[in-house]
Amino acid sequence: MLRGWLVVLVSFGYIGLLFAIAWYADRRASQGRSLVSHPVVYSLSLAVYATAWTFYGSVGRAAHDGVGFLPIYIGPTLMVLLGWFVLRKMIRVTKAARITSLADFVASRYGKSALVGGLVTVIAVIGILPYISLQLKAVASSFQILLQYPEVIVPQKAAPLPFLDVTALYVAMFMALFAIAFGTRHLDVGERHEGLVAAIAFESIVKLVAFVAVGIYVSYVLYAGPGEIFRRAAAQPDLARLMAPFAAPGSIANWAWMTVLSMFAILFLPRQFQVAVIENVDERHVKTAAWAFPLYMLAINLFVLPIAFGGVLAFPHGVDPDSFVLTLPMAHRSEAITLLVFVGGISAATGMVIVETVALSTMVCNHLVMPLVLRWRRAGREISGDFTRLLLAVRRGAIVAILLLGYFYFVVAGEAYALVSIGLISFAAVAQLAPAFLLGLYWKGGTRNGALAGLAVGFATWLYTLLLPAFAKSGWSGMQLVASGPFGIELLKPTALFGLEGLDPITHAMIWSMIGNVGAYVFVSLASRPGTTELAQAKLFVDAFRQGGERAAAWRSTTSAAALQALLGRFLGESRAGELFLAYASSHGMRSPGDLEADADLLHFAELQLAGTIGAASAHAMVSTVAQEEPLDIDQVMTIIDEASHVIAHSRKLEDKQRELEAATASLQAANEQLKELDRLKDDFISTVTHELRTPLTSIRAFSEILHDNPDLDPADRQRFLGLVIKESERLTRLINQVLDLAKLESGMAEWHTAEVDLREIVGDAVSATSQIFKGRGVAIDARLPAHLPRILADRDRVMQVMLNLLSNAVKFCREGAGRVEVRLAEEAHGLRVEVEDNGVGIRPEHQALIFEKFRQVGDTLTDKPAGTGLGLAICREIVSRLGGRLWVRSRPGEGSVFAFTLPRVASAEAGHAPRLMERA
Ligand code: ADP
Repeated sequence: MLRGWLVVLVSFGYIGLLFAIAWYADRRASQGRSLVSHPVVYSLSLAVYATAWTFYGSVGRAAHDGVGFLPIYIGPTLMVLLGWFVLRKMIRVTKAARITSLADFVASRYGKSALVGGLVTVIAVIGILPYISLQLKAVASSFQILLQYPEVIVPQKAAPLPFLDVTALYVAMFMALFAIAFGTRHLDVGERHEGLVAAIAFESIVKLVAFVAVGIYVSYVLYAGPGEIFRRAAAQPDLARLMAPFAAPGSIANWAWMTVLSMFAILFLPRQFQVAVIENVDERHVKTAAWAFPLYMLAINLFVLPIAFGGVLAFPHGVDPDSFVLTLPMAHRSEAITLLVFVGGISAATGMVIVETVALSTMVCNHLVMPLVLRWRRAGREISGDFTRLLLAVRRGAIVAILLLGYFYFVVAGEAYALVSIGLISFAAVAQLAPAFLLGLYWKGGTRNGALAGLAVGFATWLYTLLLPAFAKSGWSGMQLVASGPFGIELLKPTALFGLEGLDPITHAMIWSMIGNVGAYVFVSLASRPGTTELAQAKLFVDAFRQGGERAAAWRSTTSAAALQALLGRFLGESRAGELFLAYASSHGMRSPGDLEADADLLHFAELQLAGTIGAASAHAMVSTVAQEEPLDIDQVMTIIDEASHVIAHSRKLEDKQRELEAATASLQAANEQLKELDRLKDDFISTVTHELRTPLTSIRAFSEILHDNPDLDPADRQRFLGLVIKESERLTRLINQVLDLAKLESGMAEWHTAEVDLREIVGDAVSATSQIFKGRGVAIDARLPAHLPRILADRDRVMQVMLNLLSNAVKFCREGAGRVEVRLAEEAHGLRVEVEDNGVGIRPEHQALIFEKFRQVGDTLTDKPAGTGLGLAICREIVSRLGGRLWVRSRPGEGSVFAFTLPRVASAEAGHAPRLMERA
């Protein structure tokens, strides 16, 4: 006999076992030998998806809709099988940001917005209440049914079981206790709950075993296998109709929406997020879950149709199909199976309620209560002390409150619907989180305001099209409104909004809420400008796989922008750091760096700047030391910084050395270029010289041959030719002498005999030495020499050479008889100046520079060309510059020329010693 006390005893025994498992798992975890670090445990914990709704409700739905119960399981299967990369990204972001709940995730994505977190929490709590009430209803009614054993009291939907409300209240309270005991045992709130996960995984096994057991029992004990059940069902028109999918009008749309809904549900039900993301220990488990979880779903759904049809065949008089799993074995007095089913049902319900309330209580605590507490505290006194006790109290209170609200919902609306319909209302609520969540994960453009708008519109639509009709249907309120629309406006009827009729309520609600939700999200996102934090967070979420985990680790830093700037200042200099931060601030739309928040972007920015100076690795180490909320030993950081500055100083020196080296290389290169140029000039010179030598040689040879070949040449001619030969030879000798002289001068090989000289004396000597030539050509010479001049240091012979050259040129280019040459000598600021002026042919301006070049003789002179060599002025200029002076000419063609040169008062000491590179022109 199944007595009430036995049922209660078994229940408590089972709960005790769960506690033992949780305790053991926690102990193992604290020893570092985690029980839950196995992918199969992860997959089983995902199966918390299968609740009392699955356990009792699937059969119920199948009895009405046939295969219509399937989308609820196809959705998650698809999501886990095909959408595992989404799940993986969620896990990656969550771990990197140390996110604690679904609301935290969405809030973080939108610039850590408290408002978004609060709204998500409200949606989740209100949305989940029907779902929790469903569990209460399932457990309470299964208990009530069991108490009637062995009588199968026919629980009609229209007539509730006696004392069901009271039982449900007890169930709610007991569940609250379990949840508190499982989920908030630790003081370290926000951590993972290994014990809880282990218990959940165990429960998943229990409910699967129980369901499969009753399935086999019904199929093979009560009937002769599923084949027989289907055959007999096919014989009944009512049941045969259920076996064909998509038979009812609009059912394809329904199927599609159910599938989408449950795809979202597997990600966004707070308990699913809890087990799949928060409690995940290893990203790779997702891959195993991708096949293991669908397999579980398949197994637990295998016997739904046989049990449903078996039940309908067995109880033609309208036993609530939601209770078939229990009432079928009961009717056949199979105590063991009945009890197993009951335990399986408790498993499914408690698993869901515990995880759901733990997840929700975290959200309520962190996103509704704590923001208020902190605000209030800040207003009063400093935030200090230990928050953990307060947090635990808040969470426990939240769990009790949520279960009481669930009970309240059960009392108000729970009677009106079958289990599945109640659950779907919750699915539709959490589906409102999907746009903000999923678009936010893949689209950086989504903003906080967009998320708020989408969530608000979606949630409002849900309230209006689903929750309100649910209350109305239960006769509690709003009946009038639902029946004929507000103020009788048919178009605004909650169940047929804008005239959309003929769909089931869920599909209808989903179409409108999703259009509104996604539309508002996208529109407002595009229209609003995100803040800095929002942008940074968006990047972190969307690019979760692009950046290293390290960067995200500095996410929740408490460092300030000023601290970062100071850090940068140590490396880049105060002013440079100031500039950088100012530029950064203004590029982010802020007036001063003081407004900056030390968010991930700024950290990243600072790190990048530092990396330019001390390398990426050190920069990262530096920034994360300052940025992470670890107990920070500032002295240590400063020591590192000082060491680093030494390194920098050292590397500066190295840099200087390198610069010197580069300069040396450059000058060597220049010297090399110059040498090459010299080489080229030398080649030019040699070819010119040989050319110049050939001219006199040719004439000498020609005249010699004439003399040689004509022994009886006229003596006068002979004499003339010999004279020419002598003249050419002299010219040749002069040429060779001058070439050698110039070469000697230019190569620095010439000997210099510097001594104190009196320039008046040299000039005077030069004039008297050339007086014969002047007389011979009838050219007057006039020397104006001052009475007294300072003596200078110079080579007497060389100065003489210059004077002779200038004088002989002057006389050469004067008209015979009419020429006049004047020699002037004067003292200047830095030395003495000598000028030789003639009234000869003059030199055209374009030739005035050329004449100083070697072998340059410029045309239209009065003399015959061979008279000079073209080397004279080149030699003069070389000598004068060697002596530290300058030689130049000024002239007007036809009027005469003035050749002038200076000599410094103290002739350059190095004159003649420093080997100088050849001077051109
Ligand atoms: P050269 O031995 O042929 O005189 P120089 O180098 O002394 O060679 O002179 C080069 C050229 O400069 C001469 O051929 C002549 O054309 C021009 N020149 C030099 N001195 C005078 C001068 N006093 N008046 C006009 N032309 C001159």
